[in-house]
Amino acid sequence: MNKKQALYLGFGSNIGDSGHFVTRAIKEVAGNPHISYVSQSSLWYTEPLYDTNQPHFVNAVAKYHSDLDPYEILDYIQLIETRFLRLRNPLRPKGPRTLDIDILFYGDHCIQTDKLTIPHPRFHERKFILFPMAEIDVNYRVPGTLMSITDYIQRCPDKTNLEKI
Ligand code: AMP
Repeated sequence: MNKKQALYLGFGSNIGDSGHFVTRAIKEVAGNPHISYVSQSSLWYTEPLYDTNQPHFVNAVAKYHSDLDPYEILDYIQLIETRFLRLRNPLRPKGPRTLDIDILFYGDHCIQTDKLTIPHPRFHERKFILFPMAEIDVNYRVPGTLMSITDYIQRCPDKTNLEKI
């Protein structure tokens, strides 16, 4: 058995009852016997960052402990996304969605493959990840770097608005 490691997941939704979807999904992830819930951020109401012509999102970050392999976690969160009837429009990869779950950080893992990149490749350019992360663990040191979440917030180029719900 692998040792338990801290797992940080990012959640986002901008179709339907987004606050409810994110809150429910955070709980559903912990339905896996190998994933235990530790804590979560507030829900944040956020302006879309990339594909800007769409409704605002609800975002949150949750922390868990897990002993699963990173690819098992990816398969599992994708299963949860499909349970929330996630539809993907290949023409709008950053477009509206009922639920998106990203692996942000997992233990000391630094992975870069076609299927999975950890730490998440765009965490540092997104206030909707950094601000909720800071609520959970402002001094968290990002694996593979010497920088904390505070350091990344100071350097973040993101100019979109966001507010706690
Ligand atoms: P998305 O459209 O955001 O759900 O992501 C699409 C693809 O990104 C997934 O099918 C994953 O294979 C890939 N991916 C790479 N790194 C990550 C990560 N850290 N968390 C979640 N998905 C990832």
